Amino acid sequence: MTEIKKRFETISSSIRQAESDANRAEKAVQLLAVSKTWPAEKLRTVAALGQTRFGENYLQEALDKIHALADLELEWHFIGPIQSNKTRDIATFFDWAQTVDRLKVAKRLNDQRPQQLPPLNVCIQVNIDNEDSKSGVSVEEIQPLAEAIQQFDKLKLRGLMIIPARHDNETAQAETFRRAFELYQSLQSQFDGIDTLSMGMTADRQLAIQHGSTMVRIGTALFGQRHTRQD
Ligand SMILES: *Cc1c(COP(=O)(O)O)cnc(C)c1O
Repeated sequence: MTEIKKRFETISSSIRQAESDANRAEKAVQLLAVSKTWPAEKLRTVAALGQTRFGENYLQEALDKIHALADLELEWHFIGPIQSNKTRDIATFFDWAQTVDRLKVAKRLNDQRPQQLPPLNVCIQVNIDNEDSKSGVSVEEIQPLAEAIQQFDKLKLRGLMIIPARHDNETAQAETFRRAFELYQSLQSQFDGIDTLSMGMTADRQLAIQHGSTMVRIGTALFGQRHTRQD
């Protein structure tokens, strides 16, 4: 068995185990393969194992891979910061934008989504720990942005995405996840079609699943350590 196949099977079964430990339904949690810095051929290998969802952070790099893998039925998620000058390509080539955090960007994605494509799936990125360095809306800004997105025909609001601060203890980390889950439930009670809480990466995936994540974004545990670009 190849290294990557082993990693894929390990991560997949660890997600199933975490679901079961948390008394959650099997397949309640989706795996987003975060493929930034890895070449298209590596993604092709992972796709051949059955993985369809890929997350990319850097637009140019992502466009090259989307093009190189156009023969496969993949679902592309944009998970990097969205500047206005990137919205046209994101709206044209991606299936999801998980990092929407302002009205201007939402409006541009809506206006630039090609008419023949289904609505672009979007998550609102929440700056859950109020970090100066991070993008994302504050808790108070979720509601007005969600209402605005609901009005756009070429966007489909699916939920929330969070990148928590690095906490030095599990209790603080769990507390962040708990707050995110409450925000997600509150959004669900107000809007139709909310089914995604994108939370958890390689290091904190288990805890995130325990606290209600529906999509874990996994890079390192699947592809190995990134060398080319650190973030
Ligand atoms: C890189 C990245 C990930 C994956 O992180 P790993 O620790 O390698 O699993 C997940 N989410 C975002 C937004 C990222 O930028």
